[in-house]
Amino acid sequence: MKTLAGRRIQDNPLLLVSRSHPLPLCAPPKLAPADPLYPCVKLERQAAVMLRACIYAAGGQNKILPVSGWRSQAEQQEIWDNTLSAEGEEFTQKYVAYPGCSEHQTGLAIDLAAAAEKIDFIRPEFPFDGVCGVFRRRAAEYGFIQRYPAGKESITGIACEPWHFRYVGVPHAQIMEKSALTLEEYLEFLREEHQRRPLKIQSGLHEVSIQYHLEEEFHSLSAKGRCQISQDNCGGFIITRWR
Ligand SMILES: [Zn+2]
Repeated sequence: MKTLAGRRIQDNPLLLVSRSHPLPLCAPPKLAPADPLYPCVKLERQAAVMLRACIYAAGGQNKILPVSGWRSQAEQQEIWDNTLSAEGEEFTQKYVAYPGCSEHQTGLAIDLAAAAEKIDFIRPEFPFDGVCGVFRRRAAEYGFIQRYPAGKESITGIACEPWHFRYVGVPHAQIMEKSALTLEEYLEFLREEHQRRPLKIQSGLHEVSIQYHLEEEFHSLSAKGRCQISQDNCGGFIITRWR
């Protein structure tokens, strides 16, 4: 029987990882440098390709720097422990995800900084104007969203983080941006509105249909043509078809 368990992260760009939805057991992503100049900052391969393309399109080479990408469980634990002893519990709870519950462990999240002599590793400066502003305006086109926006703290459970971007892929990022939805809200919208009737949109030259399914429906699914099946880590999966 076909099963959803153990699929690789790169096949699951809509995976929700948070304090209430810890990283599921799945094969680790295949990684690539987020920027060839900073090879130690890595992302899931497709996310890395799209990030580089977006920085290039924004004219941000050497002006936008990747600060932190994929993290292992041990690295997330180390960041948690170090921040806790340096900054205390309130700050740590606000800005550092609990080990096992960080999006950075998927390889789909990246912290970015405007180039500067001194960069804050936990809260890098990534302004809304200049080249960083251009990057923001183009990010959705390349599949990225600002994951923790202001005003949505009660939904994401994380303080506003202007520097933290998450790869969810195209066209999902564009739909989320257009309707100002966080990943939590987008997944809920698909689950509530598009289980029986797919969401249909035009994306470039393609007609794209997006439909939500419960996990138990996976074995009976027929997936022909160009499609992507992404688990949501909340008991379901989303199938995106391009025609
Ligand atoms: Zn981050």
